[in-house]
Amino acid sequence: MAYKTKKVLIIGGGFGGLFTALSLAGDAEVTLVSETDHFCFRPLLYEYLSGEVEAWHIAPDYRELIDEKINFVRGTAEVIDFEAQAVKVSTRHESFNYEALVLAVGGVTNYWGVAGAEEFALPFRDISDADNLRNQMIGALDEIAPNLAPQDVRDEQTFAIVGGGASGVELATKMSDLLTDAFQGRGLKGAPHILLFEMGEKLVPGMGEDIREYVEKTLLESHIDVNLQTKVLEVKPHSIVSEHNGKQTEIKTVSTVWTAGVKVNPLIEKLDLPKSENGLILVEPTMQVKDFENVFALGDIAKVENVASQLPGTAQLAFQESDLAAGNIRAFLSGKELKTKHFEELGEAVSLGTHNAAVLVGGNVVGGILAREARFALYTSRLPTWHHRLKVGASWFFGGTAPKPLQPLGYS
Ligand SMILES: Cc1cc2nc3c(=O)[nH]c(=O)nc-3n(C[C@H](O)[C@H](O)[C@H](O)COP(=O)(O)OP(=O)(O)OC[C@H]3O[C@@H](n4cnc5c(N)ncnc54)[C@H](O)[C@@H]3O)c2cc1C
Repeated sequence: MAYKTKKVLIIGGGFGGLFTALSLAGDAEVTLVSETDHFCFRPLLYEYLSGEVEAWHIAPDYRELIDEKINFVRGTAEVIDFEAQAVKVSTRHESFNYEALVLAVGGVTNYWGVAGAEEFALPFRDISDADNLRNQMIGALDEIAPNLAPQDVRDEQTFAIVGGGASGVELATKMSDLLTDAFQGRGLKGAPHILLFEMGEKLVPGMGEDIREYVEKTLLESHIDVNLQTKVLEVKPHSIVSEHNGKQTEIKTVSTVWTAGVKVNPLIEKLDLPKSENGLILVEPTMQVKDFENVFALGDIAKVENVASQLPGTAQLAFQESDLAAGNIRAFLSGKELKTKHFEELGEAVSLGTHNAAVLVGGNVVGGILAREARFALYTSRLPTWHHRLKVGASWFFGGTAPKPLQPLGYS
């Protein structure tokens, strides 16, 4: 092919960038630049927290996923010169040149300027965040004196989660099951207290009514303390201040986890590109950045038309866009016509604790253990590369996906 020696530089190795790189491998000179040494399949991060899956399942090292057809560079893209077609990366002296550039750096946690949130709330976006949270849960359990009264135990075991979207709900149910199980395993009196704060009127906004009803029922059964129309005003190291109907409350916590929003990566904020009101890069239906024909943008940083309303900000959109972007980069480099596509909702699936989930199948909500298994099967099929899918599928099939109890620190 005439474009085999053309340089395609991909910034960001998440759902958008990694899948574009894998699709283009061998067709052009592909370089993938990413900040970490591993990919992260975030939809299963809750299962990593609970020990149902292991780090190598959902966060494989890039070197396990790619071969010599992709040049992998670990580093942070810092400066992009669109005129010179060059990108400066933190770990290299020389800039990288390109004939086609792909921007896929994703989002970062948005704390919305809430006092203390960035400083004291835990983000939940990567393996290290899940490790921190799990250690905090174990540390708090280890501190409970054996004869503490149930009400005092509840006060010592209060965790707050901010954001009632799918992330907050999935995290709340997982933490509740894990802690409840640990209470039984350690013979503790009382029960843990999981607080969920949502500013809006409804949980899981953007999801259908049927699935929301199932989610609400599960939260009720799990005794999760849901606070709707409640604004978090401040996060402190061991408490959270909120306001509901004009009344302020401060509650003591072990820690607060923040799942209440995503904003574009700081690199994108610096770039002089056409953007939407909320800072997303405006792209043509071909995934090319408006007025920049050799620059493609996708995933959480891009705003494209032709998208089903529930899809923006999801892995399934970034994944579908990567396929179109890769095809159009091939077309662009070989002087062919570029294509467009309508991006479809591929189905909803929510994890609801360690033994439950809800999936939407043919318009109907299926819940329970069967839905949990269906979700695992669905996500196995979406992991990157056949080789990795087979390894992980075999590990889940033969080794199982049972959660790992919150053992005391230092226990092996
Ligand atoms: C906990 C959690 C659960 C989720 N669950 C689901 C779900 O169930 N279903 C669903 O559809 N979506 C889910 N999402 C959303 C989904 O993960 C994102 O929409 C998706 O990852 C976006 O893909 P992306 O390629 O735009 O960015 P990302 O996947 O975030 O990848 C961006 C990559 O760029 C790298 N990077 C950032 N800045 C730079 C830089 N300057 N230089 C080099 N590299 C850089 C990052 O390290 C990262 O590897 C979840 C998100 C979270 C946080």
